[in-house]
Amino acid sequence: MAGTAALLLVLQALVAPAAAPPGLKPPDATPPSSYAAPNMVHFELAATKYLSAVTTGSVRVRTGPGTNYASITLLVEGTRVKLLKKNSKGWWQVTIGRKTGWMKGSYLKLSTKAATNAIGYLASGKGFEDNGDKGPNKTSRVVLTYDDCPKTLSDFNAVLKYVQAKNIGLAIAPTGDCIADFEDRYGVNLATLARAKGQWVINHSAVHQDLRPLSCAAAARQLRLTGVSTNYGRPPHGAVDGSVECAYASAGMNIWTWDVSTQDWEHENKALTISRAVTKAKRGSSVLMHMWTPGFTPDAIRQIKEGLSKRGLSLCRAYRGMDNAGAITTTPRYLPDSLPC
Ligand SMILES: [Zn+2]
Repeated sequence: MAGTAALLLVLQALVAPAAAPPGLKPPDATPPSSYAAPNMVHFELAATKYLSAVTTGSVRVRTGPGTNYASITLLVEGTRVKLLKKNSKGWWQVTIGRKTGWMKGSYLKLSTKAATNAIGYLASGKGFEDNGDKGPNKTSRVVLTYDDCPKTLSDFNAVLKYVQAKNIGLAIAPTGDCIADFEDRYGVNLATLARAKGQWVINHSAVHQDLRPLSCAAAARQLRLTGVSTNYGRPPHGAVDGSVECAYASAGMNIWTWDVSTQDWEHENKALTISRAVTKAKRGSSVLMHMWTPGFTPDAIRQIKEGLSKRGLSLCRAYRGMDNAGAITTTPRYLPDSLPC
């Protein structure tokens, strides 16, 4: 139910952006006086002190400055974007990840802080190829990500116990089918179990269907079916096209694919999975693996950790709050703009 409520909030924010209280000007009619240059109808950012902005609600990035332009993506509240320029109607051209688009100024809190704007915050996965997407991890630490479903609850618990003991933070992407299956078989919710151990849990659709043949609306319905309710999702098969991007945007999720694939689903070989993870990972990588393969064991993760360490790389740590201090605690359902890896 919490997911439905969150979705409703997102939808409310989308359908009623211009509804100003009576007596007030519509929110985007006048630029805030703090940065309005009186004699300029249009000015470049260089003329202002503002470098970035943080979204104050769920807001769309569009291909042009107006609600009649197509949506590129949907940003959740608290996302930092880099400001490029503003037009006379109060719309800002921004960049986020590798994307550039326009946003309504009334949904932006302007800041003089520079946007780090790490590559790949909002990524377009292009199939199985490694595509540079490091998701919301902007640190130099490597995130091991595991998709689909574990074979048994004891496999899952063994990994959780190990990563908790070693202060490792994985990203787990179970399908809706998987969550339901484990609820039936064992009476547990895998997402809840993982979050309680400081692990990140993202959506992987309901039934793992390739979403590309579906319309945006039909794919969005797929994403709203059973499954993990959050603001990040990994498209089944990493398959993304314009319609899939549209579906994720309308379901209120950012896409997170990977930049390093171990191809573990093809070979199901533990040693090969480990060696590919270790040799291909770079600073800040997201490594793709699957929970049903032999790469999802405490020993495989231990070997990957050791191998990376020899290359001067560290794994993302379990969640201990945004300041990364204190004991491991439950991760939030909605991932922050930047994971405290
Ligand atoms: Zn998958």
